[in-house]
Amino acid sequence: MNAELIAVGSELLLGQIANTNAQFISEQLAELGINVFYHTVVGDNPERLKQVISIAQSRSELIIFTGGLGPTKDDLTKETVAQCLDRRLVTDDKAMQQIEDYFKKLNREMTENNRKQAIVLEGSRVLPNNNGMAPGMIIETESHRYILMPGPPSEMKPMFLGEVKPYLLKDFNEPLHSRVLRFFGIGESALETELMDLIDAQTNPTIAPLAKEGEVTLRLTAKHRNPAEATKLLDDTEAKISARVGEFLYGYGDETTLPQVVFELLKDKGLTVASAESLTGGLFSQQLTDFPGASALFSGGIVGYTNEVKRDVLGVEQRILDENGAVSEACAMAMASGAAEHCHADLGISFTGVAGPSLEEDHPVGTVFIGLSHGKTQVAHAFRFNGSRRGIRQRSVMHGFDLIRR
Ligand code: ATP
Ligand code: MG
Repeated sequence: MNAELIAVGSELLLGQIANTNAQFISEQLAELGINVFYHTVVGDNPERLKQVISIAQSRSELIIFTGGLGPTKDDLTKETVAQCLDRRLVTDDKAMQQIEDYFKKLNREMTENNRKQAIVLEGSRVLPNNNGMAPGMIIETESHRYILMPGPPSEMKPMFLGEVKPYLLKDFNEPLHSRVLRFFGIGESALETELMDLIDAQTNPTIAPLAKEGEVTLRLTAKHRNPAEATKLLDDTEAKISARVGEFLYGYGDETTLPQVVFELLKDKGLTVASAESLTGGLFSQQLTDFPGASALFSGGIVGYTNEVKRDVLGVEQRILDENGAVSEACAMAMASGAAEHCHADLGISFTGVAGPSLEEDHPVGTVFIGLSHGKTQVAHAFRFNGSRRGIRQRSVMHGFDLIRR
């Protein structure tokens, strides 16, 4: 929503006073997230005020006036607004009562022109003035909202804070809608570098990266009154992000995990998987079988720790073990196809490598091969992980899940 402020008063144009009302209201509206695009100062002249109102109507939904609500002849804001909106002016009984009380309290005679201050636009919501006499007004039309407040800051500020701000908060408060995107296989700094310009330029939704436990998430937060519009804002930004780093995006939400996404994916596709694990010692099988209903998609797992088991149980040829070693692409692929074959699964996955603490077959700690087998097709992916034995095993398993997802 766009707002604009109109300060009425020739004394402002003459430089006798500064337009501090505009400063105060702008600051308040900024806090509420309402854009203020124009400030206008106009003298106490109905023709020029009409012009200003007409321009404001053409470009702003919310038009806020200060000044010119008083009892004197030069105070003509409400009369002019009434003409522009084609509304009658009527006496507000409550406002009249307040004015009479005010005079009683001061023990002064009420003059006729003070009655003028109880006159308001028909159909407006009258804002009581607890620090003076001229009440404020809120007028709603199909296309615009008009707010009229008295000029003296000592009257305007409490009226804004006590009446106008709660009104704006209620009607224009824009609830937050957020979406969490989960990434695997890309570090936080790499992700931020890829999206730097988007993150910097984006205000609605905002993009906030967060890294934890080998994963990165992006929280998109959109502000909009209409949930469907908020969803559209989020979709648009997600599309921009996906165009750059979509291959790493595996899921949504605060609670979602990569094993869970893979579990659902296999279930949806009706595929079964079997595992052959060396360095991970059954960790993959364990994490996949954490989900109830795993028997529908997990055929079985073989922990082939020694070369003998790799050969005799998984069917890895002795030639591969002799020529390539157990920590090799060739062995990973043979293990994966062996697992699929022996467990009668659609897919086979294997993990072989060096979890540490010491090197094996001359491979440094953290060298890991993950094999995938699907029918006659076998592939292997090589990794080099840093960290502890536990960390290397866990990251191997997560990358295994990621390879299945892709
Ligand atoms: P009143 O009933 O006091 O006449 P009003 O709504 O008619 O209130 P004005 O006559 O326009 O208000 O202004 C009254 C005084 O309020 C001004 O002389 C000035 O001191 C202060 N004032 C008005 N407009 C502003 C403004 N935009 N910024 C700061 N002070 C203002
Ligand atoms: Mg006045």
